Amino acid sequence: MTISRILSSLRRFFLAPHVLLYWTLAGLLFPNIVLCHTEHLPLWAALANILLPLGIYGLIISASRKTGRQVWWLFPFIFMAAFNVVILFLFGNSIVGVDMFLNVVTTNPNEAIELLGNLLTGLATVIVLHGVPLVVGAIQHFCRCKATPRLVTGVRHASAAITVAGAACLTASQLTLPTYSALNDLFPLNVFYNVELAVERTIATSHYAETSAGFTFQAQPTHDDDERELYILVVGETVRAASMQLYGYPRPTTPKLSSHAKDIVAYTDVLSQSNTTHKSVPMILSAVEAENFDSIYHQRGIITAFHEAGFHTAFLSNQRPNHSFIDFFGEEADEVHFIKNDGKEHADAELMPLVRDIIGQEHAKQLIVMHLYGSHFNYRERYPDSLAAFMPDTPSEARLENRASLCNAYDNTLRALDDLLDKLCTLAADTVTATTLVYTSDHGENLYDDERHLFLHASPRPSYYELHVPLIIYTSQAYRDAHPGEAQALRTNADKPVASNSAVFHTMLQLAGISSPLRNDTLSLASKTYRCGQRFYLDDHNKAIPLQRYPFAPEDIEQFASRGIRLTPTD
Ligand SMILES: [Zn+2]
Repeated sequence: MTISRILSSLRRFFLAPHVLLYWTLAGLLFPNIVLCHTEHLPLWAALANILLPLGIYGLIISASRKTGRQVWWLFPFIFMAAFNVVILFLFGNSIVGVDMFLNVVTTNPNEAIELLGNLLTGLATVIVLHGVPLVVGAIQHFCRCKATPRLVTGVRHASAAITVAGAACLTASQLTLPTYSALNDLFPLNVFYNVELAVERTIATSHYAETSAGFTFQAQPTHDDDERELYILVVGETVRAASMQLYGYPRPTTPKLSSHAKDIVAYTDVLSQSNTTHKSVPMILSAVEAENFDSIYHQRGIITAFHEAGFHTAFLSNQRPNHSFIDFFGEEADEVHFIKNDGKEHADAELMPLVRDIIGQEHAKQLIVMHLYGSHFNYRERYPDSLAAFMPDTPSEARLENRASLCNAYDNTLRALDDLLDKLCTLAADTVTATTLVYTSDHGENLYDDERHLFLHASPRPSYYELHVPLIIYTSQAYRDAHPGEAQALRTNADKPVASNSAVFHTMLQLAGISSPLRNDTLSLASKTYRCGQRFYLDDHNKAIPLQRYPFAPEDIEQFASRGIRLTPTD
C-alpha cells in the first residue's frame, strides 16, 4: 500500500460520522464503567450508572445528522469525563469532588502542572478518548460531513430504549439500596452537583468580610503582664506520622527532634479531620472543626484571639496566597509575609530570618504562626542537597516503579523539617525564655504503600496514611517552671486520641493563658480535663462523619489497628 493510499484511508476513517459517533460514546462511557468497579457499585446502581448516561448521550449525539456539531453539544459531559479520567489515574478511584474543584482554584498553577506533568498515561488516555473526538468533530463540522439518516435513526431508537432501561435501573436502585442517591452515585450527575456546591462555597467565601464583621473572641490575657512570652504555631504540609522516626519509623528522619525527649511531647494518636489543605489548615487556625465547619463564614482565627489578648502577631507563609480561609486567617496578623510572593520557589528554612527579625523586635507577648510547604510533592524540590540523607532521591516522577526514590526524597523532606523545628526551638528558647512551639501537619500522604497503589492526598476517600499526622509540642524549661500544671497535662495526654484540627486552637489558648468564651479546655492538650470523645472526618460535602462509621478500606483499618489508633470513642 502506498503512502497516499494509507493517508486516504485514514482520511476516510476520520471523516466518517459513524466512527466519530461510536468513538465519542466510548470515551464518554469510559469513566462510568471504571467507576462501577472502583466505587463498588451494587448491580442496580452499576446498571443505572452505565445505561442511563449512555442512553442520554446517544439521544443527544443522534439528534441531528451533523455528528461533528453534536459532539460539541456534548462538550460539558466530555469535559467532566476527561477530568474524572485524570482523577481515576491519579487516585485509582472516586469522582471529582467539591474539594477537587476548589483545589484547582486554590492550588497554584505551577503545582497543578507539576502534578499533571507526572500523569502522562492519564493525559494520553484523555487525549485519545476525548481530545480526538472533539478535534475530529470540529473538522467534520467544518467539512459539512453528515451521518446517514439510517445511522441516526437507529442510534436514536436504541438510545431511547437504553434510557428507559437505565431509568428503570435507577428506580430499582432507589427502592432497593438504602444509601443510594443519584446526586452521590450517578456519574456525571454527581460531579455536576459537586460543581454547584463548589460555586456556592466560592460565593459564600467571597462574602466572608461581611459575614465575619463584628466577630470577637472576647479574649483576655491571664498571664503576668511583665512575663515575656513567645508562642510559635507551625502548620506543616503533607507530613505523615507513619514516616517519622519520632513515631517509630525505622529510618532516622527526625534525629534532632528525637534527641529532645525532655522538651518535646510527640502525640501518638493524632488524626486530621480532612485530607485537603484548604479545609484542614483553616480548622487548625481557628475554633472551627468538622462538627461546626460551616460556622467558618462567621468566625475569625486564632491570630485574632491572640491579638485581642494583647499579643503582637505575625503570619509567615511559604505557600502562595490563594484567597482561601488560610489567607483570611493569616492576614489577621500585625505582620504578614508570604515569601513566595516574589514569584520564586523557597525552602521553608528561608522563613528563619523573618522569625529572627520578629523575635528581635522584643515584643513582650508574641505569637508567630508559620505555614510551611513541607513535604508537598515534588519532594525532591523541598530540601537542599546538604539534607539529602537518603539516596538515590531520583527519578522523582510519580510512578509506582519510582517508589524507592520517591520515599527517599519524601524522607529527606522530613530531615529538612527536623532541622527547621530544631533551629526554631533553639532560637526561641535562647532569646525568649518562656516559649512553646506547637507543630502539626494539615494531612498526610500516600506513597504507593500497599496494593491499592495510592499516591498523594486529597482523594475524596482518605486513607490511613492521609489522616495520621504528627502533633509535637515543645516547651522551654522556663515555660515549664512558670506553668507546671500545663506542662504536666501536656505529658499526661501524650497517648490519648486527638483530633488535630480541634485540639490546636484550644491548646494554644490555654498554653498562652488566654481566656475566651470559645476556649474549651476539654479539647486542650494542656488541660487535665482533656478528653477527645468522638472523632470525625469532614467529607467532601462538609458533613462530619464519625470515624467508626467511615467506610475505610480494609488496608486502612489494618493500619489503624496495628498502630493502636482507636476509631471508636474511648470515653
Ligand atoms: Zn496540604
